[in-house]
Amino acid sequence: VTAAPRVDGDRLWGSLMELARIGDTGDGGCRRLALTDEDRDALDVFAGWAREAGCSIAQDEVGNLFAERPGADRERPPVLIGSHLDTQPTGGRFDGALGALAALEVVRTLDDHEIRTQAPVVVVSWTNEEGARFPQPCTGSGVFAGVLTLEQALGQRAVDGPSFGEELDRLGMAGPERAGAREFGAYFELHIEQGPIVESGGCTVGIVTGSQGLCGIAVRLTGREAHTGTTPMDKRADALVGAARLVSAVNELPAQRPGTLATVSRLEAHPGSRSTIPGRVEMVVDVRNPEPEGLAAAEAEVGRLAQSIAAEAGLDAEVETFLKGPPERFDTGCVDAVRAAAELLGHPATEIVSGAGHDAVYVARTTPTAMIFIPCRDGISHSPAEYAEPADVRAGADVLLHATLATAGVA
Ligand SMILES: [Zn+2]
Repeated sequence: VTAAPRVDGDRLWGSLMELARIGDTGDGGCRRLALTDEDRDALDVFAGWAREAGCSIAQDEVGNLFAERPGADRERPPVLIGSHLDTQPTGGRFDGALGALAALEVVRTLDDHEIRTQAPVVVVSWTNEEGARFPQPCTGSGVFAGVLTLEQALGQRAVDGPSFGEELDRLGMAGPERAGAREFGAYFELHIEQGPIVESGGCTVGIVTGSQGLCGIAVRLTGREAHTGTTPMDKRADALVGAARLVSAVNELPAQRPGTLATVSRLEAHPGSRSTIPGRVEMVVDVRNPEPEGLAAAEAEVGRLAQSIAAEAGLDAEVETFLKGPPERFDTGCVDAVRAAAELLGHPATEIVSGAGHDAVYVARTTPTAMIFIPCRDGISHSPAEYAEPADVRAGADVLLHATLATAGVA
């Protein structure tokens, strides 16, 4: 065990802090929106470091960057490791960058120890994971995995105007390779948890077994507009009163269905005039659950609640699910490789289902995949306050290294 190679934690931390200077917001945060000059600069630095580590660089048509370290066995499909370099508008230094730079640190460590793997090791940076400037999160990995078409990716518009395709061209970030043309034997992604579970459990490592499913449900409650000053209380069909009851019922739904998260995340009352009783409310309910049955049950429950509350309040309810992301279960072989690496290195670890979306969730559709989480302070991310301890960063990268080694094989 003591002879097992370890990453250079100081070098990895140094690279993280150096990359964070691109888009530095001065308050500990980072603003590197997808397909901006800052994003391109970060990718250039990243590619330069990968080249220095002896990797060959290729880019595909949506800007995903692959840095390959050759293996001894040409027949074996490469092991893919990495994450993303873009951030939220008020992002931190670790979300994404950690996984990409830890993957690079794995390659640097293999070089230090002159370790030749059987399968090649490929480091990846996926384009537009955040879905902040462009609406489609995980664009790069989505096209790679065939979840999104190239047209859907290139055609989406930035909040500030240009299309994804126009920005790829302007920045010279698109390559000649067809997205998804490459095949990989496995994919591992290290990421901060972005939640409090690993930290509050006193663990260093989260063995991510999959990601929870989600439903976006649109609910329209229709009553009757009327004068607020002349309509007696018992003669009203106030859509907002029904909506208020539904907000409360949705909030209480998880108490009956453990494992479910349910949120009314949008609500608009019409016509929005002081002296008119709201005749119509449009709302969006966001429901999450790690199991397909649990998700379907919670989705059905929202519909049932909307209908019964509407009926009681003399309203009409229309309910429509407009977004469905099924739960994803990661590959057991890859999950086992992460667990074994954490055990080998003696890091306290816990199994966890990812609450957030990640590139790995899309990649898992076509490639055996698992993720590694490390704690972030107080579970905070998408914030300048986002922070991971250097010791945890090092531990996560060591687990990534050993999961990669076990999967790629040592020549
Ligand atoms: Zn991320």
